Amino acid sequence: MDRNGIQHGNARAVAVTALTELLGPKGLLTAAPDCARYASDQSGLPGALPLAVLRPASTDEVSQALALCSRYRIGVVPQGGRTGLSGGACSAEGAVVLSTERMAGIAEIDREAMTLTAWAGTPLETVQEAARTVGLDYPVDIGARGTATIGGTIATNAGGIRVLQHGMTRANVLGLEAVLADGSVVSRLGKTVKDNSGFDLKQLFIGSEGTLGIVTRAVLQLCRQVPQSALALFALPDHAAALACLAAARRRFGSRITAFEGMWPDYWEFVCHATSLASPPMAGRHGFYLLIEVEAGSEGAEDELEAFFAELFEAGLAEDGVLAKSVAEMRALWRVREAVGEADEGFGPHINFDIGLSPSALGRFCDAADVLLAGMLEAKGTLKVGHVGDGNVHLLVAHDGSGRAEERIEAAVYGLLRDWNGAVTAEHGIGRIKARWIGHSRTPEELAMMRGLKAQFDPLGILNPGALFADPER
Ligand SMILES: Cc1cc2nc3c(=O)[nH]c(=O)nc-3n(C[C@H](O)[C@H](O)[C@H](O)COP(=O)(O)OP(=O)(O)OC[C@H]3O[C@@H](n4cnc5c(N)ncnc54)[C@H](O)[C@@H]3O)c2cc1C
Repeated sequence: MDRNGIQHGNARAVAVTALTELLGPKGLLTAAPDCARYASDQSGLPGALPLAVLRPASTDEVSQALALCSRYRIGVVPQGGRTGLSGGACSAEGAVVLSTERMAGIAEIDREAMTLTAWAGTPLETVQEAARTVGLDYPVDIGARGTATIGGTIATNAGGIRVLQHGMTRANVLGLEAVLADGSVVSRLGKTVKDNSGFDLKQLFIGSEGTLGIVTRAVLQLCRQVPQSALALFALPDHAAALACLAAARRRFGSRITAFEGMWPDYWEFVCHATSLASPPMAGRHGFYLLIEVEAGSEGAEDELEAFFAELFEAGLAEDGVLAKSVAEMRALWRVREAVGEADEGFGPHINFDIGLSPSALGRFCDAADVLLAGMLEAKGTLKVGHVGDGNVHLLVAHDGSGRAEERIEAAVYGLLRDWNGAVTAEHGIGRIKARWIGHSRTPEELAMMRGLKAQFDPLGILNPGALFADPER
């Protein structure tokens, strides 16, 4: 057995035979070319070739498969849509992958309770579309919505573009079913909004990145579908102006702000000018760009945004603005923000930081990071884009592709972040890529508590070995 509790040698072959008998040919892949497709997620980290890919079709099959993996001490890497950006779904050496792709579908929509019960492997977009057919919506929304699954968004506590109004995934899950490492099923698929009967155990699984259990089903809290909204892009002098705009927007629109996204000039130049990832919706160069979406109130939302722009312009906060007048124009404005997925691909070797700070400190932190990186020969340029209202910036730092450059840049940025009391990940999760940096955001006491929980839920350490905790202590 290795440091991560993974069994080697003959036992693996015996385990795979037992798993084949359990799951049948549709439920288990062992051929190398098939397994290779499940090695990695979108983080860029090369995963190991999985020993096998388990594709259970029910909670019971997950339970029996995990009981077998426990018996043979086989590591299990849970996988949803593999859109994760932190390497949490990358396969580990000698482990099997457990994919939820055959556990997809909507089990129930309850219009009165405004809930939707879905299997873990259901794509996020499928859930949103199903909710909309009954005039409701599921507010968790991310760029990878077509492929990311409900199980994956729960395991990473996904954030995205609606957090300002609806919170992160953990605020939108009412019930959960999960299978523990030994195969026992913990099921609370209730729809109770209020339940103070003891600890809220589902919250432990949300954001645990597949290290405590496999999520199989969930009851999601739906919201009413926004009847009409308007979208505008404002050019501002700097990030400080964006914070002033946020305060003004809160005064004017209250909880009707559905998105408040920011782009720094380095990102704007890259997607609108250096590459043709998006066409620039406005001319000129500015210090900051803000995308704001609001729900319609008693007046038309477009008129309200126009009046808001006039207020900002008058106050010297906004320098230019574009209001989307059609669905196509809305898409074009969103395109600039969502091009980050492809910018990521075209930027060359880089580190993708996903930093969380107090919203009021975000701009100043980015300025400090710019100064720090400008003094490092290893850093070759930055892109900054993020969820301004949530204090979350995606900071991409280009480098020469060497391990040494990566190491030095990470140490510098995470060191700065620790001084600012920030989070090394705001929404993408720790996974494997950030496991060694978790101590920059969490105290030794917090980490000891997390390890204690891990040891209780998964005493053999077979669930997602190497994710979240970097060392073999689990
Ligand atoms: C273009 C793009 C845009 C993105 N935008 C955002 C964004 O705005 N906000 C955001 O938060 N994230 C974003 N992400 C990251 C990613 O989409 C999310 O982390 C998403 O929640 C992952 O879902 P998935 O099904 O692909 O999970 P995977 O990548 O397959 O897995 C992610 C983690 O969850 C675990 N896991 C998966 N399924 C289960 C399960 N059923 N039970 C237990 N553990 C499980 C895995 O082991 C892994 O640790 C983006 C990614 C891309 C590529």
